[in-house]
Amino acid sequence: MPLILCPRCPNCREQSKLEMTDEEVAAMNAGQLIQIALEHWPAEQREMLITGIHPKCWEEMMAEDDDDTPLDGRMDLL
Ligand SMILES: [Zn+2]
Repeated sequence: MPLILCPRCPNCREQSKLEMTDEEVAAMNAGQLIQIALEHWPAEQREMLITGIHPKCWEEMMAEDDDDTPLDGRMDLL
């Protein structure tokens, strides 16, 4: 299964990798929206792919301050 490199998490500066199926990668490469191509994924996993923010970091950041995080949907294929 292809591994997708997530953007760097703005909270902990870690970069996570997520496994995708070939079909999911193909759908993304065909320009399908993440929300549609990966609609069967848990929301927090899609969030990690789009923003790099881990679910626990999201909570930490919400607890601190609402920092502006760009939701530009960029991702790097390995
Ligand atoms: Zn994090």
